[in-house]
Amino acid sequence: MRLTDWNETEQPLSLEDLQLQAERCLDCGVPGCRNACPLGNFIPDWLEAAARRDWKQAGDLAHSTSPLPEVCGRICPQHRLCEGSCTRNKMEGAVTIGAVERTIANRALDAGWRPITPAHRTEHRVAVIGAGPAGLSCAERQNRSGVEVTVYDRSNKIGGLLQTGVPSFKLDKSLLDRRQAILEQAGIHFVLDTLVNKAMLSTLLEDNDAIFLGLGAQKARTIELPGQTLPGVEQALGWLERINTGTRESLDGQHVLVLGGGDTAMDCARSALRLGAEVTIAYRGPVDSLRASPKEITLTREEGGQFVLEHTPIRCEGTQQVTRVHFDTPSGKQVIDASKVLLALGQQPAPPPWLTVLDIATEPSGNIRVDTQGHTTHPKIWAGGDNTLGPNLAVNSMVKRLKGCLPVSAY
Ligand SMILES: Cc1cc2nc3c(=O)[nH]c(=O)nc-3n(C[C@H](O)[C@H](O)[C@H](O)COP(=O)(O)OP(=O)(O)OC[C@H]3O[C@@H](n4cnc5c(N)ncnc54)[C@H](O)[C@@H]3O)c2cc1C
Ligand code: SF4
Repeated sequence: MRLTDWNETEQPLSLEDLQLQAERCLDCGVPGCRNACPLGNFIPDWLEAAARRDWKQAGDLAHSTSPLPEVCGRICPQHRLCEGSCTRNKMEGAVTIGAVERTIANRALDAGWRPITPAHRTEHRVAVIGAGPAGLSCAERQNRSGVEVTVYDRSNKIGGLLQTGVPSFKLDKSLLDRRQAILEQAGIHFVLDTLVNKAMLSTLLEDNDAIFLGLGAQKARTIELPGQTLPGVEQALGWLERINTGTRESLDGQHVLVLGGGDTAMDCARSALRLGAEVTIAYRGPVDSLRASPKEITLTREEGGQFVLEHTPIRCEGTQQVTRVHFDTPSGKQVIDASKVLLALGQQPAPPPWLTVLDIATEPSGNIRVDTQGHTTHPKIWAGGDNTLGPNLAVNSMVKRLKGCLPVSAY
């Protein structure tokens, strides 16, 4: 029973299943799957290489467009990207592209596939701030073209929200350790446990040809909810970070109420269920506007999460501790008892004060303003990922960055 462990819920494909999926590919003239993939992955080509069990070629093809295929294969919302545009989707169901991608990446890496290290190093240097998917993607592409890259992160592990937000039952954390070792082998330097502040940034600007900001959007969105400071009410991201870094309190016999309807809410619910709680997910809209992917909603239901829809929270109640939450619903006011409330209501960027000092413009939303090349309003600074998009998807954080910023470019 999967509720007793934190291992990945989805299992890798067997060789037979992989073959079967590859054979289902119609090799369409204009592949809808490839066009719908934000990275433009060569899907029909790697399916064909996988069917031949040519892990070297499949690994080369998968990595030629994606810095982290093992991650995307696991956590992309494939139903609205590649698989949603697979021609077979309108027939008897899409080729399971995500599962194949994940299997290819694992088989290629297990068989010793490694990225080609640059034949020669240029004199150019880039500092990347943030080791989330955006920073790693930029680092990998610049390194490939011979640029000397150093990645800085305040955390002691790479991955950003892949490490602290996404739970291990969706993404095994040892994959991130393996990826760090691969990137180091390819020549990328990591300086972890290091918060980049204004003074450090000034030094990095002097020492490097360009800086890339992949700072993420990890500040909880503020909402009007009286009682939200009561003990027992917590922001989802802080709580998930504790769980994902190994501090797992027992919630046996407790009733946890998760407020929200996105992937973060499902991740909270499924984590709380594993800690022994009864879990209710309260969402303000109807079922068809839940933002979480259908796969995540199904898994949450299967594991015992109860949904209450069209419930808008209006206040938390309690004295020493939260005891219940009041809601507006189409049928009037409702109250739900809870010993713990997790607020999974979205995030926003938290631009550091040194952005203004450096004349780096931000949008009213807090997103860093960039042009189509990812260039900020500072001549030496580029940015990408959630700090320019707002909270988004891992795959969208990985699209090409620093295009044309250096005399030697990766493209
Ligand atoms: C709970 C949860 C579940 C998710 N599930 C999915 C999913 O299933 N599928 C999906 O595609 N996406 C999912 N996402 C979204 C995805 O994780 C993010 O879109 C993605 O991680 C953004 O990448 P990023 O590199 O822009 O930022 P982040 O991943 O946030 O990384 C930013 C990094 O910058 C570092 N940093 C920030 N400031 C500094 C500083 N001054 N000095 C040094 N380091 C700094 C941070 O420590 C962090 O490591 C989920 C998000 C959450 C919160
Ligand atoms: S990166 Fe995401 S959208 Fe692209 S092929 Fe992989 S799973 Fe599909």
